[in-house]
Amino acid sequence: MSFNELGLAEPILRAVAELGYTIPTPIQVQAIPAVLAGGDLLAGAQTGTGKTAGFMLPILHRLSTGPQVRNAAGAIAIRALILTPTRELAAQVEESARQYGKHTKLKSMVMFGGVGINPQIGDLRRGVDLVVATPGRLLDHMQQGTIDLSQVSILVLDEADRMLDMGFIRDIKKVLAKLPAKRQNLLFSATFSEEIKDLADGLLNAPAMIEVARRNTTAETVSQKVHPVDRDKKRELLTHLIKEHNWFQVLVFTRTKHGANRLAEQLSKDGITSLAIHGNKSQSARTRALSEFKDATLQVLVATDIAARGIDIDQLPHVVNYDLPNVAEDYVHRIGRTGRAGSTGEAVSLVCVDEHELLADIEKLIKRKLPREVIAGFEPDPTARAQPIQLRSQGGGGGGGGGGRQQQPKRAGSGASNGARRAPAAPGAGGGQPGRGPRPARSGPAPAGGPSNGAARRSGGRGR
Ligand code: AMP
Repeated sequence: MSFNELGLAEPILRAVAELGYTIPTPIQVQAIPAVLAGGDLLAGAQTGTGKTAGFMLPILHRLSTGPQVRNAAGAIAIRALILTPTRELAAQVEESARQYGKHTKLKSMVMFGGVGINPQIGDLRRGVDLVVATPGRLLDHMQQGTIDLSQVSILVLDEADRMLDMGFIRDIKKVLAKLPAKRQNLLFSATFSEEIKDLADGLLNAPAMIEVARRNTTAETVSQKVHPVDRDKKRELLTHLIKEHNWFQVLVFTRTKHGANRLAEQLSKDGITSLAIHGNKSQSARTRALSEFKDATLQVLVATDIAARGIDIDQLPHVVNYDLPNVAEDYVHRIGRTGRAGSTGEAVSLVCVDEHELLADIEKLIKRKLPREVIAGFEPDPTARAQPIQLRSQGGGGGGGGGGRQQQPKRAGSGASNGARRAPAAPGAGGGQPGRGPRPARSGPAPAGGPSNGAARRSGGRGR
């Protein structure tokens, strides 16, 4: 199958060819004709599968071959709205719209918080065909009356599961309520919890359903390894590994924002250029860190799960789990940052005695035992006892003021969402075994289904 057979307009095919894409990915083969046909779509796909082009190419086709519409103010009206959970993902998706649409006359803009609203208002006044937005800032515009959504005919919810995890459901519903009833809806999600199925049931009309292999079944291109180590030796071991193997472009995951800051500082003291990104960092700091990392002037980027979501760097060679994630599925997302597009990558996890249960959960999920390799000089103390895992950043030193969000024990205790982490069967159909949910680590603040669970998720900033 080649791109030319998918029914896309010539200017779009030309842009795709210029980017060097020759063969559409499996999700593209299925999604592009479905979206071109105009119906709704429910797609199970994660970052790295080519999902962005899977919806963006046919959307650009539909917009560029359909009549341009004007809004009440006489400007080009917004016909496509794409919602994403994070600023980084929004920026990347909009960049894709620009690249794939460069030979069309379509105009797009990205809209997220943490930056001034006035330039966005200016862009909206001048008129755009397509908007990529995070929900919080979009709502700000709606509340201020600076955006007219009355002509939206295509809506995409990208990484819908992450949006729900981040507490955006109410914001999404407010947005949906203001859109024209007659429109095409596309929902992309890596996982299918009950919440996502509810959302899909309410949103989608007889959707085409597409599912592509989860990365945990396609991780052959990533070599995965565990280095057992004592908790207070992790930083030294990481420095040792980076220096010993001369690693560049290392994406390191920590559990908390404070942990990310502290680690980045310590690595810098060890002579390894490194910056942290997380929800409390200003947008300009995040953008700068990401661009230095992409240019390989920054050796190490330390990130929390939410901040790293959507980072798209081709052929990222090294991912390090400095802390194991609380939720096993996040391990799969993390290592999905490496070994992309056929290149090989390496994912190593530094695992201390506190994390043995988390490691067991991960191995159960990916259905394989990860090889252990003890590094000489870093042998773990066999008599060490497990301690409770710190789930949240401690106050102070956490990188500054509000607006960001704490890393939360996501979906703590929700059995439904765990089983549903398998690829979609059908909306409304059972999402998987009702097995036990990813539990919070032993010190987790929220008991299963406890009142602080959802409430905590929705507290704090909205990641705008
Ligand atoms: P995504 O899953 O949308 O984040 O895309 C992952 C990466 O694959 C991006 O860097 C895209 O530029 C790239 N990509 C998407 N489609 C193709 C394709 N058909 N051939 C080669 N690379 C692609």
